[in-house]
Amino acid sequence: MIDHFPESSLLISKEDLIPYSFDATATFYHAPLAVLFPSSIEDILWVLQWAKSNHACILPRGSGTSLSGAAVPQKNSIVLSMTKWNKILEADPYNLTLLVEPGITTQAVQEEAAKFSLFYPPDPGSYKISTIGGNVGHNSGGIRGLKYGVTRNYVLGMEVVLPNGQVIWLGNKCVKDSAGYSLKDLFIGSEGTLGIVTKVLLRLIPKPQERQVILASFPTLEVASEATSAIIKAALIPSALEFLDQKTIECIESYSPAGFPKESQAVLLIESDGHPQAVRDEITRISQVLKQYGPLEIRIAENPKQQEQLWSARKVAFSALARKAPTVLLEDVTVPRSSLAQMIRKIQQISKAYAVEIAVYAHMGDGNLHPVFLGDEKNKDLMERVFRAMKEIFLYAIKLGGTITGEHGVGLAKKEFLAYQYKSEEFQLLKNIKKILDPENLLNPGKIFD
Ligand SMILES: Cc1cc2nc3c(=O)[nH]c(=O)nc-3n(C[C@H](O)[C@H](O)[C@H](O)COP(=O)(O)OP(=O)(O)OC[C@H]3O[C@@H](n4cnc5c(N)ncnc54)[C@H](O)[C@@H]3O)c2cc1C
Repeated sequence: MIDHFPESSLLISKEDLIPYSFDATATFYHAPLAVLFPSSIEDILWVLQWAKSNHACILPRGSGTSLSGAAVPQKNSIVLSMTKWNKILEADPYNLTLLVEPGITTQAVQEEAAKFSLFYPPDPGSYKISTIGGNVGHNSGGIRGLKYGVTRNYVLGMEVVLPNGQVIWLGNKCVKDSAGYSLKDLFIGSEGTLGIVTKVLLRLIPKPQERQVILASFPTLEVASEATSAIIKAALIPSALEFLDQKTIECIESYSPAGFPKESQAVLLIESDGHPQAVRDEITRISQVLKQYGPLEIRIAENPKQQEQLWSARKVAFSALARKAPTVLLEDVTVPRSSLAQMIRKIQQISKAYAVEIAVYAHMGDGNLHPVFLGDEKNKDLMERVFRAMKEIFLYAIKLGGTITGEHGVGLAKKEFLAYQYKSEEFQLLKNIKKILDPENLLNPGKIFD
């Protein structure tokens, strides 16, 4: 391999490999054999062949912000870093599409869309650095998932290099397509285990004309959860409906103060967007529902600057909590929205039962909760309790009809729990798909399942 690639495309020294030995998930670490920055499809095909002949495997990687260990190398892995494939290949205002390379950041896509007064809604908290390839890999969501959906809803097509060396194009610019199985959808959320994504065709939508943000604070977590369920029951679908508990609010306020009420147990941050009159109506109706749940305060952001301040503060929730303990694990369960209060209550009970500090923030309108476990890798007893508490939360979410992951994927971190969510025949079907596409287990092995 050293003979085939220039020094600038290959990392092999122990020190250079360190940043590619982990992702944003605590507790997982493994150094790769090498890191390769391919400059062409031919490079990718060459390295696939090399891996086959040398009993190695390949981990496609974006920015490594995965929160499920999906971008952590396993034994004999070559990391294929796609970050230099970051160009916009075509903007098509007639079809409202953008063709991009997978290493482009989510933020750069949003900025490009804005140049045409268009909008790319998926917005993971990591949007400034996460790549579209990684977003596709995890079918990433974000704050606007409630109204606008997730990455899958904006991918119209993609070019993929299969483990057998075939280069295929899936999808097209059409708004409708009923021709056979939707193969592109198989690759969205496949965590680099089925193919290497080399181009992505994205759908853009018109930019909403106006937005307004409400902050509502509550005396208990449960009441805030019930208010959320009531908003959904009233068939109100704002563009964002976020939840922060007191621990998260305190951390944010000491990290990047934004005026969140520190004394309240829970805050809902709600955004309505669209036509100005529709936004006004929606805000009025949401406020009416909120008032029925005894809020301590309802505040409407007065101007775009205040709105931005609140959202920027919300987006640093994980970074702010990460300062609170030596090892911080962010989880991602999702439940039907009618069960939010039950799930929140259970998390509080589990936190007490296992004597583990758990903060919670959530894409509440999606039913997607992020319990954040404050641990310490050096304290074995504490970490054992953390993992037992985590397992109990996963099992309870499944019992409520939920899922172990709403947006972060399975990776290494949750593969142990996937079989609890699927019946054995369904689980076997997942494994069969991997076997058909990657019989030699070349791509990101050990992720999703063993
Ligand atoms: C502070 C913070 C906030 C976050 N907030 C959110 C959030 O709000 N919502 C959310 O959904 N996630 C969130 N995440 C998780 C993470 O940022 C997303 O999963 C993101 O999409 C990962 O992008 P990446 O470029 O870092 O991908 P990586 O971590 O490098 O890779 C992720 C997966 O995609 C695969 N992959 C990457 N590129 C390719 C490719 N070209 N071809 C095939 N497979 C590929 C990898 O193999 C891996 O399995 C957050 C993470 C952090 C650290």
